[in-house]
Amino acid sequence: MQKRGNFKQYLEPIKPVKNYINWNFDNSYSKLPEAFKEIIKPVSVLNPELVILNENLAKELGLDFSKIEKNELSALFAGNILPEGTSSIAQAYAGHQFGHFTMLGDGRAVLIGEHITNKKKRYDIQFKGSGRTSFSRGGDGRAALGPMLREYIISEAINSLNIPTTRSLAVTKTGEKVVRENLLEGAILTRVASSHIRVGTFQYIAAKQNIDELKMLLDYTVDRHYPEIKSSKTKAVDLLNLVIEKQCQLIVNWMRVGFVHGVMNTDNMTISGETIDYGPCAFMDQYDPKTVFSSIDKFGRYAFSNQPAIAKWNLARFAECLIPLIDEDEEQAIKTATKIIDNFQNIYEQKWLNMMKSKLGLVGDNKDDLKLINSLLKWMEKNKADYTNTFCFLMGIYDGDEIYKNKNFEDWLDAWKNRSSLNNSDKEKQFELMKKVNPVIIPRNHKVEEALSDAEKNNYKTLNILLSVIQNPYDPKVDILKFQTPAPASKEKYQTFCGT
Ligand code: AMP
Ligand code: MG
Repeated sequence: MQKRGNFKQYLEPIKPVKNYINWNFDNSYSKLPEAFKEIIKPVSVLNPELVILNENLAKELGLDFSKIEKNELSALFAGNILPEGTSSIAQAYAGHQFGHFTMLGDGRAVLIGEHITNKKKRYDIQFKGSGRTSFSRGGDGRAALGPMLREYIISEAINSLNIPTTRSLAVTKTGEKVVRENLLEGAILTRVASSHIRVGTFQYIAAKQNIDELKMLLDYTVDRHYPEIKSSKTKAVDLLNLVIEKQCQLIVNWMRVGFVHGVMNTDNMTISGETIDYGPCAFMDQYDPKTVFSSIDKFGRYAFSNQPAIAKWNLARFAECLIPLIDEDEEQAIKTATKIIDNFQNIYEQKWLNMMKSKLGLVGDNKDDLKLINSLLKWMEKNKADYTNTFCFLMGIYDGDEIYKNKNFEDWLDAWKNRSSLNNSDKEKQFELMKKVNPVIIPRNHKVEEALSDAEKNNYKTLNILLSVIQNPYDPKVDILKFQTPAPASKEKYQTFCGT
């Protein structure tokens, strides 16, 4: 056991903090029955030190940290002091992890409360890495600095790419070591989400077989995320349809920018449709549908091209939870749910086709559009073309390399130009359409690693530069060219690890 320092001074909330910061807590989830949560406070840490604070996000939330001293901020974002109005809990949830069902829950996170903005938007404020809870099983309840900063970088990148996601408000070092393969610096991430309700939350409550609580979760979720179906007589069916729609949109967005989530377990899939849980995720450089980064994903369950199929599988698990609420007649309920889930493919494919067409700046419909798209993807795969840069090349903002001087590619370009001429718009409008959906900047893996490696040596300059660059992913500027170039070819495959 590590000896604890003098943190007692922080245990009592310091009241003036609230007035300066503008926290406005109104905690609804903590009022749900016992089965949903454990009431618990973050475990204080030895020597908190704020590493990064997301000023832009703070502004969006209407929070002002400018009048707070750094040591107080550090104590705040480590959970050593809690702002007035919080009601902290660890949330219960279950999950299919790589296909296997387990009862889980926040084993190293604490939801301190729900902050309401001036515009009346409700956000969960959660500390990740804040100590053990009753859901910790064998874990230490802690997180390491590298993975928390990684979540900060990638979630901010995903947000800037206009993809729904949880956000990162701050990262604080704890001054304590965490034991992984090596001894690592401990850290706490402050995560902001429209909620942390997951497919796995429904699985947990459904597994308890208490229909009243399941109904309560349904009502709570609808009130919070989909109030438009509040008075529906077929609430469960409507929710299932809406979540399928949201998740299809989310996965299509990931496919648009080459994002591989890496661990699409049902506990890592939100009901709100936000990307959550940035573990072994990464962006693909060379186009390869089989791309897997996670060292533990041996069979490619969560490979790039498998993401839609896995989303469907997860949504089928969600539908199973809703069966008792869909129809009193179980057989009929299963029939209804199956029909809805079977429609996933149609919804997804239509959205994907529209997305790919916008990547190519194609307007209107043409019967050969799918063929044209697939032949480009095949060519990219065969020629190991960079996914992001190929679309930049098509937009005329990337000079490209030798691979584009290729007869097959030139033939494809002719076909694309012919098809584009059918657009009812000029070339400029085509590029305008493309520039909105094709990023110039993604957080390249070697750049992320460089930033993390410097941060571990207490040098945060590289991290801050990277964060400022990924904030404008659709804005082509000459001085950011070095962030556009993929890492030089290496014999070793880029791997991400779950040692979080
Ligand atoms: P994740 O891989 O972050 O999605 O976590 C999966 C489950 O493992 C969740 O229930 C986490 O709370 C739990 N977990 C992950 N790391 C730890 C840890 N260091 N201590 C306790 N629980 C953990
Ligand atoms: Mg998780």
